[in-house]
Amino acid sequence: MESEVRELLADQIRDAYSAEKQALRCMQKVLKKASSPVLRDGIQLHIEQTQTQIERVEQVLEKLEVRPGRKVCEAMRGLVEEAQHEIDDQEAKGPILDLVIVAGMQRIEHYEIAAYGTDIALAKALGEQEIVQLLSETLEEEKMTDLKLTEVTEQSIMPEALGSEGEVAEPSASKKTGSRAKAA
Ligand code: FE
Ligand code: FE
Ligand code: FE
Repeated sequence: MESEVRELLADQIRDAYSAEKQALRCMQKVLKKASSPVLRDGIQLHIEQTQTQIERVEQVLEKLEVRPGRKVCEAMRGLVEEAQHEIDDQEAKGPILDLVIVAGMQRIEHYEIAAYGTDIALAKALGEQEIVQLLSETLEEEKMTDLKLTEVTEQSIMPEALGSEGEVAEPSASKKTGSRAKAA
């Protein structure tokens, strides 16, 4: 029944509302721990995007004529907790801590990408074009953030972590594999 799919979408949007707010607090904390200036700029940008994303979720809730309620996104709570623990386990600031930050952030972005994909499909099925539009803008930002995290890792954090100042490690001459080491 359409009303049930509509209620399902409302619940998923309440989940997104909680998830975004948790992600925002996490990034605000993590920002102070990052060393790479490019990573810090990226986190700062995504903090600002996330503030807009929260407003978009509020607009969607208004369009659906439902209240945010008290739903807590438990998956985001777990992702944030895990990231926080892994960050706290690092004693010093630097490229290794930056890698830990990226790992935690990418898990968070992937959760958001999955969730918004579902939400957009539900809104599409219900013919809610404006909601599809709002959520698609957010989805695009989550995907870009994920890509940028990979880029900053490959271009600056990983070379620094490996101690080779901006150069990607070449496979050793003795191993004639013919293929270059691929960054994950
Ligand atoms: Fe988000
Ligand atoms: Fe959730
Ligand atoms: Fe995000």
